[in-house]
Amino acid sequence: MQLRVKLSITGIVQGVGFRPFIYRLAVQKGLSGYVRNRGDAGVEVLLEGDVKSVESFMLDLIQKKPPLAQIDHITRAELSGENQYANFTIYKSSEETEISGSVIPPDIAICDPCLRELRDPKDPRFEYFFITCTDCGPRFTIIERLPYDRENTTMSEFPLCGFCQKEYEDPANRRFHAQTVACPTCGPKAYLTTNGGEPVQAKDPIREAGRLLYEGNILAVKGYGGFHIASSTTEEKPLLRLRTTKHRREKPFAIMVRGLDAAESFAEIGLKEQQLLTSPQRPIVLLKKSSSYNLSPLVAPNLHNIGVMLPYTGLHYMLFDRVPDVAFVMTSANPPNQPIVKDNEEALKILGGTVDYFLFHNRKIAHRCDDSVMRVHGDRQVFLRRSRGYAPAPIRLKQKSQRCTVGLGGELNNTSCVLLDDKAFISQHIGDVENVETRSFMQQATAHLHRLTNCHAQMVACDLHPKFTTSLLAKEMAEADGLPLVQVQHHHAHAAALMVEHGLDEIVAVTCDGYGYGSDGEAWGGEILFCTSDSAQFLRLAHLEAQPLLGGDLASRYPIRLAAGMLQKAGVNVGRWLMQNSSHLPHGELEANLILNQLENGKGTVHTTSCGRVLDAVAAVLGVCFERTYEGESAMKLESTALSGKNALNLKPVLHSDTLETSALLRTIFGSIGKVPTEDLAYSAHAYLARGLAELAMQKAQEQGVKNIGFTGGAACNQILAALMRKYIEATGLRFFVHEAVPAGDGGVSFGQAVVAGFSDF
Ligand SMILES: [Zn+2]
Ligand SMILES: [Zn+2]
Ligand SMILES: [Zn+2]
Repeated sequence: MQLRVKLSITGIVQGVGFRPFIYRLAVQKGLSGYVRNRGDAGVEVLLEGDVKSVESFMLDLIQKKPPLAQIDHITRAELSGENQYANFTIYKSSEETEISGSVIPPDIAICDPCLRELRDPKDPRFEYFFITCTDCGPRFTIIERLPYDRENTTMSEFPLCGFCQKEYEDPANRRFHAQTVACPTCGPKAYLTTNGGEPVQAKDPIREAGRLLYEGNILAVKGYGGFHIASSTTEEKPLLRLRTTKHRREKPFAIMVRGLDAAESFAEIGLKEQQLLTSPQRPIVLLKKSSSYNLSPLVAPNLHNIGVMLPYTGLHYMLFDRVPDVAFVMTSANPPNQPIVKDNEEALKILGGTVDYFLFHNRKIAHRCDDSVMRVHGDRQVFLRRSRGYAPAPIRLKQKSQRCTVGLGGELNNTSCVLLDDKAFISQHIGDVENVETRSFMQQATAHLHRLTNCHAQMVACDLHPKFTTSLLAKEMAEADGLPLVQVQHHHAHAAALMVEHGLDEIVAVTCDGYGYGSDGEAWGGEILFCTSDSAQFLRLAHLEAQPLLGGDLASRYPIRLAAGMLQKAGVNVGRWLMQNSSHLPHGELEANLILNQLENGKGTVHTTSCGRVLDAVAAVLGVCFERTYEGESAMKLESTALSGKNALNLKPVLHSDTLETSALLRTIFGSIGKVPTEDLAYSAHAYLARGLAELAMQKAQEQGVKNIGFTGGAACNQILAALMRKYIEATGLRFFVHEAVPAGDGGVSFGQAVVAGFSDF
């Protein structure tokens, strides 16, 4: 019996070798018809042939699909009429856009066959930095329009040569219909310039760049999603120079290491970490420095770990070819509070003062995308930043959203998120949305996400903070499109994100971070909330003790102010301590005296329940960190210190009906200085908070009759807090949840907002 069938396939099916796969399969089964890409990122297939062959095709379609393809849904319609096709063809793409929710894949690291060809002197792409195939290469960052065809990407400026064209048209070839195919003859070219843009003659610009790095120069290196700033990891001079000109006194630099073996020479790598490092996504993974750590301490000062990634393009591999260096600094090239630099002109203008040379290539970047950053807790992955390699691939949810929504996130470390049915599309890392540059990046990224997914949001969600740039942007968007706007409290967004990521109906969530605007307008950040998936409301069940934020924003910058306020509140006479440490304040004794005056009269002081600020204060009391020069610095350094300590104090949490006291903690820590090792005090502080928050959460969960307890917010990236809380909570038979697919920090807020808007009954 003959059959005519039309299939519409959605998911990640463009840019992953899907049409060539369909073609080969159809030919193999003796079927006629066609396959083509659609303008909505889906694929359409028409099959003609006998029933048995069609059914066998359908089976293989699911079971043998290309490794990077993700099939979400197949609509199958049987057509009437006579057969019309004599053979099977890949048709030109259609512009049809009636189905939503498909998306093109993220950028994918160079695959093994391409890497082998890069090293094979007999291969026409021997030592060609931009070697790619249907299984690897940039995707998200090169696409300008859908469908995913070469003319819609930034490869359109590089017409295929005869050789590449032949491979492109050969069904048996790995580059059959590979849109990024290129070779030294027809493809993008790499070149070196001085920091002023003057060409530097070099036969082999990439190896020459490697040599310049080895010699102690600082380079800007253009990659897939933007520029990296690169330097030596062992020479002090360039590192010091970089720290001064990049205004990064202490902020850790990510590094790229030539291979896994090389990374093992200075860091400890577990199985899960190894899997992440070598995955096609190639994120930066935070690794514990080993006892044989031999890179400069300036790479990641005063931290126990270091952000490491493996090369993910041919260019990266080649940088290491002729130098002894095991690793180079490879940090995102972005001026403070601005997005990563992606255009050549822009790079010369913005980075010229920082670097000595540029390693450019002449392929444009359509969309900027920073590297992803992860760490591992036990055997669980934790996203510190979900970007290259992951965005825009959707996170699949267990429930379906009631409506398509968009969340614009908060202020720091921001992302945006489009939610459709059971899929959440979180944008690449946007950064701190505080100025015009990041605001416009945010707008572009969100619009692009809408276009890629063919979604039309029916509701806009944003933070509760009235003055956040993203809140204002959301209002504009909602007004322009006549859509309802939902404002979601920051910690509620964190809690909802965790709940929906795990497909739960309700959760009691311990939500800890640095700052979020509370429903009462106060500064929140150590909250125990209860929320359900069908309601836009939440309950604030408990929180940390409110502590003075002496000097507002200055207090988060100089945690000695926090410590002074908290110690004074705890009944400690802080005068002497403050004067002794006044050199850590920008105005020294004068400022210390002003602080003491303010402490006495207590006027004009705002308060916060932030967990981050308590950790900051402990770090200052212990002398671990007196100034926050980057987000999360004190807490990170305190964790690093604590990791070599033990719970020497074993403090019993002081709980009230809805608060965990932190004054008691500060007082005891202060009183133990000099008697107990600093590492043990640092660990004891973590243990106090973890146990106190866990006990409070368990008590509240019992009152609410809830079995699910979660831990979310930026502090959930803290290994000690997460592990201890898990231990206490699981010991009582309750279920404990943390994020695995969504960032626990503020990169997950847009997702939380989108799900509150999408899942709630209004
Ligand atoms: Zn490849
Ligand atoms: Zn070519
Ligand atoms: Zn947060």
